[in-house]
Amino acid sequence: MNRKYRKTIIAGNWKMNKTPSETKEFMTTFKSILPKGRWCDVVFCVPAVCIPAAVRAMRETRVGIGGENMNANASGAYTGEIAANMLVDAGCKYVIIGHSERRAMGETDADVNAKVLAALEAGLTPIMCCGESLEQREAGITEEWITMQIKAGLLNVPEDKIRKVIIAYEPIWAIGTGRTATPEQAEEVCESIRTVIRKLYSSKNARAISILYGGSMNEKNAFELLAQPDIDGGLIGGASLVPEKFVQIIEAANQPTA
Ligand code: PEP
Repeated sequence: MNRKYRKTIIAGNWKMNKTPSETKEFMTTFKSILPKGRWCDVVFCVPAVCIPAAVRAMRETRVGIGGENMNANASGAYTGEIAANMLVDAGCKYVIIGHSERRAMGETDADVNAKVLAALEAGLTPIMCCGESLEQREAGITEEWITMQIKAGLLNVPEDKIRKVIIAYEPIWAIGTGRTATPEQAEEVCESIRTVIRKLYSSKNARAISILYGGSMNEKNAFELLAQPDIDGGLIGGASLVPEKFVQIIEAANQPTA
C-alpha cells in the first residue's frame, strides 16, 4: 500500500451467497464491530437482490455497495441482466467486472472492456479483474497474459477516467482454494500491472491507481500482503462472508505505509 498516492480499498465479493434477510443481519453485526478510525475504503459487492438491503444498512456510513456484474448495454431485451444505471439507481457505487468465475462462463476481454466503458459512463467505479491460470503460471507466461488482459480491458478508457478504475489481480489458482499467492508473487504481478498503466497512460496515473490482490486473502495473511508497496487492498470472497474476519482484514489495512 502507499496511502500517500492512492486509496487503500478492502472489497468483499459475496458471490452467490446470502439472502436479503441474511444481508440485513450481517450488516447489523458488521456495523457494530467496524473500526471507527480506518484508513481504507470499504466495499461490499453483493448479489443483485441483496443490494437494497445492503444500501439501506450502510446509508449513514462510508461503506460502499457494488454489484458483482453488469451488462454493457443500457437497456433492452437481455432477460436476467442488469444495466449500469440500474445499479446506480439502486445505490451502488462499484461493480466487479471480469471476475474469473464470469470469464469461465464465457465472458471475453471484449465483453470486459465494453462493461468497463459502460460502468464509467454511468458513474460507477469498475473493479476490473484479471488473473492467470495455474497452467499459465507454470508455463511462465503470467506477465504477458496479465498485460494482455489489462490492455484489452482498458481499451479506449480515456486518460481522465483511468484513475476511477480499480484493478484486481486475482490468480485463478488462488480463488476459493485456500492457496494464496505469496506476498512476493502478488507484489510482482501488481507492480507489473502498474508498469503497464504507466506505459499506457502516465507515471502520475500509474501512481494514483489502486491495484488490489484477490485469492484466498484472509485475516491471517492480509497484513503481509497489504504490506507490499503495490498491493493497495484486497478483493475478498470467503472471508468477506464473516463479519469478524472481514473486520480483521480492514484492521490489517490500518498499518503504516511508505
Ligand atoms: C474472489 O471471489 O474474488 C475471491 C478472491 O475469493 P476468495 O477470497 O474466496 O478466494
